[in-house]
Amino acid sequence: MSHSLVLVINSGSSSLKFALIDAVSGDARLTGLGECFGLSDASVSWKYEGEKASCALDATGNHHQQAIERLVTLLEELGLKQDIIAIGHRVVHGGERFSQTVKIDAHVLNEIDALSELAPLHNPAHVIGIRAAMQAFPYLPQYAVFDTAFHQTMPAKAYHYALPQKLYQDYGIRRYGFHGTSHYFVSQEAAKQLGKSADATNVITVHLGNGASICAVREGKSVDTSMGFTPTAGLMMGTRCGDLDPGIIDFLMSKGWNQADLQQALNKEAGFLGVSGLTSDCRGIVEAMEQGHEGAKLAFEIFTYRVAKYIASYMVSLDELDAIVFTGGIGENSLPVRSAVLKHLKIFGYREDTAANEKARFGEKGIITKPNTPIAMVIPTNEEWVIAKESMALLHA
Ligand code: ADP
Repeated sequence: MSHSLVLVINSGSSSLKFALIDAVSGDARLTGLGECFGLSDASVSWKYEGEKASCALDATGNHHQQAIERLVTLLEELGLKQDIIAIGHRVVHGGERFSQTVKIDAHVLNEIDALSELAPLHNPAHVIGIRAAMQAFPYLPQYAVFDTAFHQTMPAKAYHYALPQKLYQDYGIRRYGFHGTSHYFVSQEAAKQLGKSADATNVITVHLGNGASICAVREGKSVDTSMGFTPTAGLMMGTRCGDLDPGIIDFLMSKGWNQADLQQALNKEAGFLGVSGLTSDCRGIVEAMEQGHEGAKLAFEIFTYRVAKYIASYMVSLDELDAIVFTGGIGENSLPVRSAVLKHLKIFGYREDTAANEKARFGEKGIITKPNTPIAMVIPTNEEWVIAKESMALLHA
């Protein structure tokens, strides 16, 4: 039986992720990843009906273009190409210009490109991916779904820094926030699971993956979030430092550090990796901690303490709180992380239901706190589904 399918593309600087989403059921029919772009071992791998396969790309040439061309051939081989009705692109930065999903035309593409100054690693890569997709599928409508869009409802007191306003006016320096698609999705799902309408639901969503951020969602809208002008801010992450005394930057510059050194240290060598001296991966941190590794233990403690501190501070953004929602690779899977965070929140009445938290570890998601205590829950995120749904909504509008 043929189904309407939406192709979701997330084009990064050295990778390109794709997923073919069934527009009715939301199921991913085909998922894949092109990686190591720009290197001699660039390749594309994919999963279809439980089977995995991969192929190498030519060592030289434009790997984004090659990956899309391989994808087109694959879709033809699998007999899926003719069922695609739209393409949805994940775009990291929409600045203040984009507060919702838009149909991509030449003007929108230029604007995404112009926002590259704010997201130098991401937006140029999105533009390359969008161009390649437009060339390969000239007859399909394409949409851009922005990571920043959900946070455009933040009030001025949440998005302004305590800096001279000239910096906002001249350079657009303000909090934008990221992971918006994920925070939006899990806040909507939380409302459903709590039996409330989204616009009457207040939650704190906790997205913990390699990148991590927290969002206060008031009556369905983002009112504050922990990532800022860049995704380096807020929580400690796999390799990013999160919040930092800005004086440290000044101090390191006085010691001869330059912009590249700082960028490398704060974004690539900090977080779990920097503190543990071992790994950026949460699973590795937990395993090492259980074997008595001091650096891993410290990394785990800083991470979970900071998550709890942020949750506590975001309570002031809301008048009521229906639930704390954990999501992302760590939030969905790491029982010890959730457990440690809830212990820090004891003063607010949170009590872990250990059996429920244990079950959530094995894929059974839902509420992980004891009956008649404040609610914390686990909800798997699904950014691809949001991108597909938003694209379809505009297609049918
Ligand atoms: P990204 O931000 O790159 O999308 P993910 O959301 O996939 O990342 O999250 C990756 C993180 O999730 C890694 O730190 C990984 O260790 C962690 N993770 C994945 N599965 C588990 C698990 N079963 N237990 C603990 N942590 C996990």
